Amino acid sequence: MKVGVIGLGAMGAYMAMNFNKAGHLHRIWNRTAQKAEALAEQTGVEVAENPSALAGTCELILICVSRDTDVLEMVEQIAAGVRPGIIVVDTSTVSSETATKAASLLAGKGGSFLDCPVSGGVEGAKNAALAMMVGGDEAVLERARDTLASIASNIVYIGPTGSGQACKAVNQLMAAGINQAVTEALSFGEAMGLNMDNVIDVVSTGAAGNWFLSHRGKSMLAGSYAPGFKLALHHKDLTICQSMLQKFPGTSLPILEMTLVHYQRLMDQGFGDEDISALYRLKKIQLQG
Ligand code: NAP
Repeated sequence: MKVGVIGLGAMGAYMAMNFNKAGHLHRIWNRTAQKAEALAEQTGVEVAENPSALAGTCELILICVSRDTDVLEMVEQIAAGVRPGIIVVDTSTVSSETATKAASLLAGKGGSFLDCPVSGGVEGAKNAALAMMVGGDEAVLERARDTLASIASNIVYIGPTGSGQACKAVNQLMAAGINQAVTEALSFGEAMGLNMDNVIDVVSTGAAGNWFLSHRGKSMLAGSYAPGFKLALHHKDLTICQSMLQKFPGTSLPILEMTLVHYQRLMDQGFGDEDISALYRLKKIQLQG
């Protein structure tokens, strides 16, 4: 399939490179033109003039931008240039409502929309090893599956439009709890004066082992919080979870509430563009203070 990629940030650039490796990449576009030009030089693929022009020449368009409004802006522009039969795959993390709006914008033009948020971090994007949770028409997914397999090693159909994003909300809430647990426990270990390299090496292989500990444990202890996954983006995801929770009055999710407060504090201090492991900054201060 001829693939176009819109949004060449930390995740999108790697996904575009993997489509290119598999021979699918046809056009790219990014709001900041230099990023698109750099990737064009690397891949030999043309930069589209705008998202509408990209839509006119591609069979599958993958979007990977930051927030709900950004996705809708891109889909509106795609819809202006779309050819019937095109499949638009949104890998951004946004709300289920945004997925529904995007699908209806395209349906009027003969295009199909799949909400396909991903998990696995920049490492997963780089290694074409993402987990992809899909909402939309299952038959459309089956048309796109082989192409999407160039960027994702596990593609799971969840249900109708919006279900992929609902699944991602579950993932993001779980990631918040894991971040809380790992940063707090590592801070505790450091306060006890343990050799933390050894602690991470052994704990990672036992029952408390997890992706975040293995990939971010040592870097956070070294005081390095380069993204990765920007803290402000995870904060955005948790506000999506919070709005979904309004469907269940009287229910509270303590990890969600606590993490939103912690992230807001870090964002107010200017750390929003750091990796989510920057939560360690607060845990360290708490235990030592
Ligand atoms: P990023 O590095 O900050 O890249 C964001 C991309 O979105 C950039 O290409 C940016 O363009 C583009 N963008 C933002 N606003 C736009 C707008 N109004 N119009 C057009 N383009 C716009 O973010 P990322 O880490 O790749 O994350 C992208 C999405 O994937 C987010 O929804 C995030 O929650 C999700 N995600 C991230 C990870 C992760 O580990 N990083 C994992 C899974 C899912 P410019 O270059 O012009 O700024």
